[in-house]
Amino acid sequence: MHRLLLCLTAAVILAIATSVYAIANTPTGFVYPTGTAALGGYAGWLAHEDGYFPGLYHLGKDIDANEGDPVYAIDDGDVYAVNNSSAWGQGNVALLVRHKLSDGTVFLTIYGHIVSSLSDGDNVVAGEAIGVIGHYVNGDHLHFGIRPGTNTSAPLGRNGMGEYDDPKGFVDPVDWITTRNPGTTLFSDVVTRNGGTAAVGTPNANSHSGLIYAYGTYVRQDFVGGTFGHCCIMYDPRNGDGNP
Ligand SMILES: [Zn+2]
Repeated sequence: MHRLLLCLTAAVILAIATSVYAIANTPTGFVYPTGTAALGGYAGWLAHEDGYFPGLYHLGKDIDANEGDPVYAIDDGDVYAVNNSSAWGQGNVALLVRHKLSDGTVFLTIYGHIVSSLSDGDNVVAGEAIGVIGHYVNGDHLHFGIRPGTNTSAPLGRNGMGEYDDPKGFVDPVDWITTRNPGTTLFSDVVTRNGGTAAVGTPNANSHSGLIYAYGTYVRQDFVGGTFGHCCIMYDPRNGDGNP
């Protein structure tokens, strides 16, 4: 049976493809969260004392950005929590997005001081714009943190100097995305979490190009801003019967 799903127009596809290819990848294939390897000189991993809040130390890396700049998912995944603490700035949130390494390690990435319309359980695609930089009184930037596992408890962004030897499970996020390998996303996981029925199985050749994923005998093309099972084209590149 020929199967073809078309949920977006060609014009939208072209516009999105153009934007995706402008986004830089890390040496191991993650997407840089602000789209560029130029992270700037704001407070880095475990920063404290000079240049940081007195008595506190930093559980992530602050990446230079301007209000309204897009923030990108570093890999496929799903929104695991939305943190609304006022510490992120008025109207801002921190998205905690669940991703996987190639060895199966699950981790949460914190994208803080952003404005986002995403909710708990939403699926994201590598390179998808998941929000924009919000206004922050101490200087607009993206707070970027990584914590292996799925612990969403505070502290999320900074911690007291009295516990400097305990980064609360967080790791150096820049080291993580430049030395670790992105995982093959188990789409059945994220589909189940979202309550959908469009499970497509385990991808066997995820290119991490941001657009094309190959699954067994068919190719699925996902789109920025879409959700799995709603905005994709599936076709069979091998025998042409279109049957996944
Ligand atoms: Zn920060």
